[in-house]
Amino acid sequence: MKIITSVEEFRTFRHTLQGSVGFVPTMGALHKGHLSLVEKSNQYCDYTIVSIFVNPQQFAEHEDLDTYPQNIDHDIKLLSAFTVDAVFLPHSHMMYPENYSTYINETDVSLGLEGKSRPTFFRGVATIVSKLFNIVQPSHSFFGEKDAQQLRVISKMVEDLNYPIDIVPCPIIREDSGLAMSSRNKYLNEDAKQKASVIYRAISHGKKLLKNGEKNYSIIKDAVEKIILAEELADIDYVSIASSKTLKEFSTTIDEDALISVAVNFDGVRLIDNIVHSSG
Ligand code: AMP
Repeated sequence: MKIITSVEEFRTFRHTLQGSVGFVPTMGALHKGHLSLVEKSNQYCDYTIVSIFVNPQQFAEHEDLDTYPQNIDHDIKLLSAFTVDAVFLPHSHMMYPENYSTYINETDVSLGLEGKSRPTFFRGVATIVSKLFNIVQPSHSFFGEKDAQQLRVISKMVEDLNYPIDIVPCPIIREDSGLAMSSRNKYLNEDAKQKASVIYRAISHGKKLLKNGEKNYSIIKDAVEKIILAEELADIDYVSIASSKTLKEFSTTIDEDALISVAVNFDGVRLIDNIVHSSG
């Protein structure tokens, strides 16, 4: 497993690879969710590249860039259990030199949900992923459904900008309690982490109502909110029920495949999760 820190070195290494190249972009503090993406890349591709880069452009000023969990040595140890041909670890000043001035803005699926709460987030995500795609030049790239909207924004960017890359969605990996694994779970103490499983219980209940034939938007949304708010550590940012295809919010009747997604400040930590109901 090569550890590469410069773009030039990565390009030289890339020239030596022939065949399919799977790419897993991450911000580190790796857990089983990230590793499931690496495992899938190993199954699909001849080579697997992982990047670890805490991207300052996707954090707003009041967010947790300075405290975001980082443990590169541990990450590299976890990755050694898989076939990882190279880990790309660029420095921030290399990705964004002082005179940096080019950004990627997706202007449809990025607008609601996370885009509404975090207005510059997807511009940061699309820009760094675009840059990493240009450097790594993968044939496939693996993204978690945990970040459902991100997956759609990246898929749209790849389609619109003609990147010759297959975007492969990977299922959400959860703790036994149901809590979606996330690097930010490291901020929670054990008690709060247990209690945070209420988020999954709530969205699962929403899905169950839909499965049982309830189509009324407000009834389902209220039921999901009520379960979350029964936990006093929880402060809801949003609960959304949107078309899973377009991400447009339903208003009265839920009459197609639905994405129930939530952002909750839990004991001060912003957690997101989602679940899909397929009507067909
Ligand atoms: P991050 O390091 O949080 O930027 O995540 C890097 C990649 O891992 C993204 O494609 C995420 O969607 C994915 N990911 C993070 N948590 C999970 C999880 N619990 N299950 C599946 N994929 C995940």
